[in-house]
Amino acid sequence: MRIFRPLLVLTALMLTLCFELSAQEALPSTIKNISFDSRQQVLTVLSSDPLTPKIQYLVDQQPGKIVLDLPNSIFPPVRQELAAAGSIEKIRVSQFQNQPPTVRMVLDLLRPLEIAVRTRRVEGGYETRIESAQNTPMPQQTLSGKGELLDVRLVGQNLVLEASSPIFPEVRQLNKDKTEYLLSLYDFTTKLDGPQLKLQSSLIESVTVTQETKGVQLRLRLKRNDVEIVPFSQDQFCTLQLLVKATDRNQAKFTDLQIDELGSQTTRVRLFADKAFDFQVYPLGNPHRLVIDTMGTNMGSLALERKLTNSQNIRSVRLNPTQPETQTDVRVVLDLQGEAQYQFNWNGNYLEIVLQNRRPIIPDPIQTVSPPLRGRPLVVIDPGHGGNDPGALGVRKNKEKDVTLAVSQYLSRYLENDSIQTLLTRQEDLEVLLLPRVNVANLRNADLFVSIHCNSMPPNNTHVRGIETYYTTPQSKQLADTLHRYLVTELGAQDRRVRLRGLYVTRHTKMPSVLLEIGFLSSPDEESLLSNPEYQRRVAKAIRDGIYDYLSRNQKLKPAV
Ligand code: ZN
Repeated sequence: MRIFRPLLVLTALMLTLCFELSAQEALPSTIKNISFDSRQQVLTVLSSDPLTPKIQYLVDQQPGKIVLDLPNSIFPPVRQELAAAGSIEKIRVSQFQNQPPTVRMVLDLLRPLEIAVRTRRVEGGYETRIESAQNTPMPQQTLSGKGELLDVRLVGQNLVLEASSPIFPEVRQLNKDKTEYLLSLYDFTTKLDGPQLKLQSSLIESVTVTQETKGVQLRLRLKRNDVEIVPFSQDQFCTLQLLVKATDRNQAKFTDLQIDELGSQTTRVRLFADKAFDFQVYPLGNPHRLVIDTMGTNMGSLALERKLTNSQNIRSVRLNPTQPETQTDVRVVLDLQGEAQYQFNWNGNYLEIVLQNRRPIIPDPIQTVSPPLRGRPLVVIDPGHGGNDPGALGVRKNKEKDVTLAVSQYLSRYLENDSIQTLLTRQEDLEVLLLPRVNVANLRNADLFVSIHCNSMPPNNTHVRGIETYYTTPQSKQLADTLHRYLVTELGAQDRRVRLRGLYVTRHTKMPSVLLEIGFLSSPDEESLLSNPEYQRRVAKAIRDGIYDYLSRNQKLKPAV
């Protein structure tokens, strides 16, 4: 194993980062988004809380891999693969383990690469940038940890430290009543050493800087004990955000908790509060639980524990304030019957979690992974909506879920006739979450993923009609253009363009994937077309022709004998 010199540099930097972050409360960080900018070669991770990546360089086999583990973090999509460019071939992200929750990112390299990691606070969370170490030369001072503390000043409620080089103070609470903190800058020097600085605010009582042998120390005395200190460092500045914890006045009170069984495998949990609240959701195993940590909340009118005897997914619900002194920050624990997938929707003061147990609806993709037959490409067809989710409704009450299923079934029959394998994400009127729809395509290594939906406009827009085609990833553009052209031409429908949008199913599928909006149920004319089996077959034929054209152009079809 070869050790890269810059790795040592990086390790030093990471240690200081970890040091800084370990001073904070260890709530799991939820990863909200991961993206790769291929032009700038930067991988960006947005998360609710700071991440402390642990980096391993696997250089035994050239060109090697880089493994970044993100301890104490949650990745709700569970699995994702990103196409990359430059030195990186692809990036795989997965929820590597649940207890403790750890997300793993694997960078498959095309040539050796050393990376640098930087985290900064952004609106709504933290941004971690991972890029080539060559792109981001670190000032020499960081390498030895030497630097000078130049200034300490107030900016609004926050305290800003400025130094001659990047600065990552260690923050420690000094007394039990949470009013005194010690900030250490090892190996730093300063000329600010002396009596109290003239810094006072509604939160700060005093700030004193002293030069010790091992470095600079700042003693921070606060006027109140309900302040949380969140440092974030960028370049030679460190901002210490002073955040006042929720008080009685700004707390959200829970008003209701409702649990409904939706069909045979799906359970919906809804939490209502009188004000907006913040939260994190994470799964735990052994036994299976789903934990919802809410912030700035109190129990309001909710009871502490509820046993459920008739739920598919949940045995009991427990609620507990995690801050005993203030009885705030309610933790909701759902004790599960077994392993379940979950999705959540949040709208300020309302949180909805939909759980679906793992009894397979469609043949369990993990059990049945088999490569597509040679020369017989596999197309996953995804009929939108289903079960309790009807999708759009027409004026004459035709449901999107019925139209999408009918068209998908015709399409599957036509493709199979052309020796193209198909797999439907649902065969009947069933609610299927988005994650299993995507998983079935990814785990079966499908060649194409085609999701079928109907469009809808708000009332008074009954004149709007036509075909819209959506895609997200670059490898899907050609498929989107082809299928769109066939639909518009063969149906004589209005062309409402091919559109780039980050929809869940087109974002999380690895193969070329599209979402087709085959017409508007809000248009009475198109509603009567879409509910007519003859027109449904014409739609399916147009999509079949487009798929056939695309597959032959991309040499995915067995040559004619
Ligand atoms: Zn839809």
